[in-house]
Amino acid sequence: MVLEICAVGGYSEVGKNMTAVRYNNEVIILDMGLFLPKIISYEEEEGSREGLTKDDMIEIGAVPDISVIESWRMHVKAIVTTHCHLDHIGAMPYLASYYDAPIIGTPYTIEVLRRILKDEKIKLKNPLKVMTANSKIKLSENFTLEFINATHSTLQVVMIALHTPEGVVLYCNDYKFDNHPTLGKKPNYDRLKKLGVTGSVKVLIADALYSSKAMKTPSERVAREMLKDVLLGVKNENSAIIVTTFASHIARLQSILDMGTKLGRKVVFLGRSLEKYISAAEALNLISFSKKSEVIGYANRVKRKLKEINKNKKKYLVVCTGNQAEPGSILRKMADSTMPFKFEEGDHVIFSCKTIPAPINMANRAMLEEKLVRKGCRLFKDIHVSGHGAKEDHRDLIELVRPKHIIPSHGSLEQTTPMSELASSMGYVLGQNIHLLRDGQLLELD
Ligand SMILES: [Zn+2]
Ligand SMILES: [Zn+2]
Repeated sequence: MVLEICAVGGYSEVGKNMTAVRYNNEVIILDMGLFLPKIISYEEEEGSREGLTKDDMIEIGAVPDISVIESWRMHVKAIVTTHCHLDHIGAMPYLASYYDAPIIGTPYTIEVLRRILKDEKIKLKNPLKVMTANSKIKLSENFTLEFINATHSTLQVVMIALHTPEGVVLYCNDYKFDNHPTLGKKPNYDRLKKLGVTGSVKVLIADALYSSKAMKTPSERVAREMLKDVLLGVKNENSAIIVTTFASHIARLQSILDMGTKLGRKVVFLGRSLEKYISAAEALNLISFSKKSEVIGYANRVKRKLKEINKNKKKYLVVCTGNQAEPGSILRKMADSTMPFKFEEGDHVIFSCKTIPAPINMANRAMLEEKLVRKGCRLFKDIHVSGHGAKEDHRDLIELVRPKHIIPSHGSLEQTTPMSELASSMGYVLGQNIHLLRDGQLLELD
């Protein structure tokens, strides 16, 4: 019997990740993500995405084109995801109902998904099931699912080890090897090593996004130090301090909260998506921000709060949405003066993030920065380390798990080729046991 792997999405672009694994008459879907730049361009041109159907979303390229696995539809046993980022779960509201199968993720991932569904007023008929890291369940006759604890840039991220009669499909999207995480545990190296030593891994599907970077991605502890440097080491007692970062990066938010508290400022988190990811983490007792800070999601309350902050800027540290200068984000509205807040000469704006290198994001960010500079703000940019592993993380992963085959993923050829070159330098052969796939391609492994 052959193991079949279909690269449904995320192999011709950075986004809309989705991979399907078939053995005999059973199929498991790994991730079902959104391609955000397409959504942003659509919303900028047409307004809201509300009311868009599954087929509309496929047509604008915002979700994976599942027609390539149409004949597998009735065989899908489960939809499994590694973490709560939208490029992994964001297409579920539109596509999951098409399959008669449960969605399985870690408690935090599922909690975030529940909130997304509630926000978008979408009801899925798929049961939502939680499974914790470092546990295992039998899914069907041929598949056993195992979650292995990993580190990335949000909470409860796992690598998926899908045990099949042909060996393990090890799916590592997304990950980095962080040996000093500031929240959560180190990666489960012991388990990965065991899979390697026993020669169990048939195929490794891994996050090649930064495989071109000849480095090991620094620990989140480094980002914490960078934040400390710009928040505690720069004269700022008379300035407003505005920080923006990824809303789902709870460890980063925790560091910002800690620094703000050290500065003696009241920390206020503003914006719907921040409220969503923070409240999901609080509901599971993973953090307790509400005790030390204010978390405000609703637009009217955000406005009222900013009015109050504007009167006494020195007392607050504002954390808000808008790291990519997305339309509708708080920072963008503040810069456009459509919020009751006035920037003044010398105010600090800290970007604890990196701009996602899509043309629309880059254009939005450049425009936002220009406006802020014109208002006299001091910008502190790239106060950030990535959640994606680089070349030396990947070398360690490959050495640790010793896969028979490697499929670089999470990007187009530009991202996947460097991982293929790394694997070649380690004795693998392109076309034989390294496979560079594009969206819609099917690979048979026997
Ligand atoms: Zn991610
Ligand atoms: Zn991702």
